[in-house]
Amino acid sequence: MAPLTKRRYAKSRQRERRGHQAIVASSMDTCSQCHSAKRSHHACMVCGFYNGKEVVKIETPKKKST
Ligand SMILES: [Zn+2]
Repeated sequence: MAPLTKRRYAKSRQRERRGHQAIVASSMDTCSQCHSAKRSHHACMVCGFYNGKEVVKIETPKKKST
């Protein structure tokens, strides 16, 4: 049998709890290599550099020959 709560939560109590659940946008930084916007403490999604070193190989999609 599923557990049942003894008392209902007042709407204000529920809102008090959910007042702490807001989603915050992650802070953005600029890449020192290509100066594009990147997430702080993450490798750059554009050039793959982190702390002046290339840590991720970014593969550019090859153009389809027509
Ligand atoms: Zn970059």
